[in-house]
Amino acid sequence: MKVKVDPTKCEGFGICAELAPQVFELDEWGYAAVLGGRDVPAALEDAVRRAAGACSVAAISTET
Ligand code: SF4
Repeated sequence: MKVKVDPTKCEGFGICAELAPQVFELDEWGYAAVLGGRDVPAALEDAVRRAAGACSVAAISTET
């Protein structure tokens, strides 16, 4: 799975980093970025799906 955050949509709510801290990090203003590139280890895919579903502005997109 690949994941990305659309910085034009992210509102900095931080839910993604709470649900999948191994994948998302927040910058000093609270906006999210993907840690370590776009590829998600299989063990973290469920957490990424939960984060994508929880992002209220649909800034997180995935592809398989
Ligand atoms: S949950 Fe969505 S809006 Fe909130 S920080 Fe993550 S990507 Fe941005």
